[in-house]
Amino acid sequence: MGWAEIIHARPALPAALGAELEPYPYLSGFGLVHRVTRLATPLPSQVTSTLGFRNRQVTDVLLATQTPTQARSTFLRRLHLQDTNMAAYWNPQQWSPVQTGDLFGRRPRPLRQCPQCAAHGYHCALFQLPSITHCPWHRQPLEHTCPHCDAPYHARFDDHARLGVCACGHDPFDAVVASVHMWDFPTDKAQDWLEDYQAWAQRRRAGRWICVPTNCTAWDQGFAALAAPPARLQRTDTDTPLVIEIFSGPSADPAPRHFWGWSCWGGERPLTLAPLPATMYPLLCEATKAVVDALPPESRTPFELVDANALEASATLRENVFLRPDCFIKPRDQSGSAMWLNLSTVDAHIAAFCGHVLDQATAHLGAPGGSVLASYSLQAARSTAMDQIRGRGHLADALAKILTRAYAYGLHADLGVKLDASIPRAAWPILEMVGGSGRLRAIRLNWIEQKSPVATVRVERRGERPASRPLLM
Ligand SMILES: [Zn+2]
Ligand SMILES: [Zn+2]
Repeated sequence: MGWAEIIHARPALPAALGAELEPYPYLSGFGLVHRVTRLATPLPSQVTSTLGFRNRQVTDVLLATQTPTQARSTFLRRLHLQDTNMAAYWNPQQWSPVQTGDLFGRRPRPLRQCPQCAAHGYHCALFQLPSITHCPWHRQPLEHTCPHCDAPYHARFDDHARLGVCACGHDPFDAVVASVHMWDFPTDKAQDWLEDYQAWAQRRRAGRWICVPTNCTAWDQGFAALAAPPARLQRTDTDTPLVIEIFSGPSADPAPRHFWGWSCWGGERPLTLAPLPATMYPLLCEATKAVVDALPPESRTPFELVDANALEASATLRENVFLRPDCFIKPRDQSGSAMWLNLSTVDAHIAAFCGHVLDQATAHLGAPGGSVLASYSLQAARSTAMDQIRGRGHLADALAKILTRAYAYGLHADLGVKLDASIPRAAWPILEMVGGSGRLRAIRLNWIEQKSPVATVRVERRGERPASRPLLM
């Protein structure tokens, strides 16, 4: 469907100044509100309430227009555009080469715009994708902060009911360009590029899903790496690209019930003792040794850990761990293929993320017939559903990597606090699943390092001594 068809049901004459659609292919909801309110002749404040933005001081126009909200349908009706299909392109998901779930709706995000397009009041929901770094037709880098004062651009009205004006006064919108010169916009070039890109993204996202931990806000870089368009559509930046670890290829699927242990993960509650496949045991022992080896060799054994982990107080930490590399995971008896391990150093959000990834896998790749599973417990249902997915070994390998890294980070941070040593930067996993019905073809994984320093808080768990551990931002 081309742009002409999408806007076919528009009125013959635009209902308001700024509502001209022909020059501006795939104009976003934000772009339309921006143009109409900035070109409005009566007081802008009257226009915003007429258009359905009553609570305009707090309304994020990107969020309010990307999903079918009350404000969006009022706005479309007032402009007599309710019968067009243009709003289908207002959600960044519609431009993403990977299915994003609620990712773009979780919280307001900075507006990303091209300064030359912004002079017209033009914005496309495509620009909100971190994987799009330049305006495809002006070739200018997209900006998400003000070039004068560096404040993040946001999609809210200011005190004068204006959109797109920075608090410092910077305003890329130009009323003359946006009205008299609207036909100078590179309409054909933009439309060709967008339709070419849209066809690529649509094909690709059919079998791809991205998973981001719920409290991770700085996922832009990870998304940009996983969703980068091919070179023919956008030349890649010279910045060092993020490393994407790929789990794919032929591999034997793990035995049934391999995911039994993982299947009870997913609550926001931290897991102190958790069941895991026994294959995790050697990985976590190796990680423990690597963390302790990275500390100064003479590091003492923190006295807080001596009793809780049955360590030798007079020996160094390295000596203790050399003799008992499993001292922090305290393995309990194995039941079936699952082994109970102490994972109190693993960040609760990453633990929850592992459970959510399983849910995503069974929701998108699981065999139809969920009703059969309805009689099982949640854990049994998840585990049984996972056993029916071919290629699930890729997910088992990726989860093992994620957990090992999260464990090592948590342990390093915990020991760092107790020994007054340095604490590494935390990192979030960003994961993409590739597959189709009943089959997982690959997992693509990368990690986003946190930029801000890690704050430490004390958390107390039932039956445990209070312990310092990092709070992930
Ligand atoms: Zn542009
Ligand atoms: Zn500014």
